[in-house]
Amino acid sequence: MNQTAPKSLRLQIALFGKVNAGKSSFLNLVAGQQVSITSPIAGTTTDAVEKAMELLPLGPVLFIDCAGYGDETALGAERMKKSDLAYSRADVIVWLTNASDFGDIDRRFLRKCSDDKRKVMVVFNKIDLNLPSDDMLAEVKNCGVSDILLLNSLDSAAREKNIASFKQALIKLAPEDFIVNVPLAGDLVEPHSHVILITPIDIEAPKGRLIMPQVQTIRDLLDHDCTVTVVKENDYCCVLENLKNPPSLVICDSQVVKKMVSETPENIPCTTFSILFSRLKGDLPLMTCGAYTINNLKDGDKILIAEGCTHHAVEDDIGRVKIPRLIRQYTGRDLQFDVYSGHDYPENLKEYALVLHCGGCMLNRRENLSRIELAAHLGVPITNYGMAISLTQGVLNRVLFPFQKMM
Ligand code: SF4
Repeated sequence: MNQTAPKSLRLQIALFGKVNAGKSSFLNLVAGQQVSITSPIAGTTTDAVEKAMELLPLGPVLFIDCAGYGDETALGAERMKKSDLAYSRADVIVWLTNASDFGDIDRRFLRKCSDDKRKVMVVFNKIDLNLPSDDMLAEVKNCGVSDILLLNSLDSAAREKNIASFKQALIKLAPEDFIVNVPLAGDLVEPHSHVILITPIDIEAPKGRLIMPQVQTIRDLLDHDCTVTVVKENDYCCVLENLKNPPSLVICDSQVVKKMVSETPENIPCTTFSILFSRLKGDLPLMTCGAYTINNLKDGDKILIAEGCTHHAVEDDIGRVKIPRLIRQYTGRDLQFDVYSGHDYPENLKEYALVLHCGGCMLNRRENLSRIELAAHLGVPITNYGMAISLTQGVLNRVLFPFQKMM
């Protein structure tokens, strides 16, 4: 494939282990080049090092080489926070260890994965020094680990064999949607249908290109043998009027959802990119419930605006300005909005009456789900910008209609 696939579309594989377990050497073995700084001095990796590559037959992957556990230095706690973030977003977790010093840190990590129901692969590295005993292997298996590899990352003669075993284990552990192509919109219509996409080109649109959700939707529909017409919102009516047959589906950016619904005859199904992505990368029923809790907000409630990446906020920024304005107008309540960007999620999540998340186009499904799961676990409703906009515009039921049978 290519080196330009965004991180959110790559299988994210996080490498964990104690300091000096050989994580960086293992990554270099897979990458076939010097990616991480390796040295026999414990704790060489401080921040997570990311390496994007193509790993056939899986496709584009992103390795995250995390700081080692058991770092007793002053910066250790900070490094572990970054490792925790990688743990939340990783699709596949790989724990590197050695038979020579397998111990409590290994056990604690593997039990945590088991408690969190996270699938993990264990790699016993440096087998030239020591092989794991049968008891040790049984202990690892008792933690629910079925995929255990034994290798020496520095053994170049065994490189191909070791990489092949690693890929086999990855294929077993990768989420199903990496192995099977999960449709974005193509399953909502019959093959050879005509679908109209409405994409506003405003000051928030990136210069010279369409944004990723639009590009992915076009590709998905083409993969399902559909015909796609892409229009700006002001041309939509005219295109619709000139069609011999009505389109099978209309999909719009949430910011123009009210206009789109008012111009779309009742018999034409319509929805938004936000809802498509909520289904693909999140939990559509839960996010729908979250959207309806906007009706119950009270004066003084705190709302978290969570953005999946940091970006330069423009005038009338959607998260900082437009959404708070819409929700205040719709509810008539005196509400407080806090904004968090990037991989950060606040520790005081329980203080919030609602989490309003962006579309999360830069996050992979695992990270989106872990944010949703954390909010659900703490009993904090969560929805996304697009669904909140559709609710405040009085059209949420209409744009959810194409998914009725699935909810
Ligand atoms: S803020 Fe969210 S929706 Fe916007 S670009 Fe970043 S991840 Fe994508």
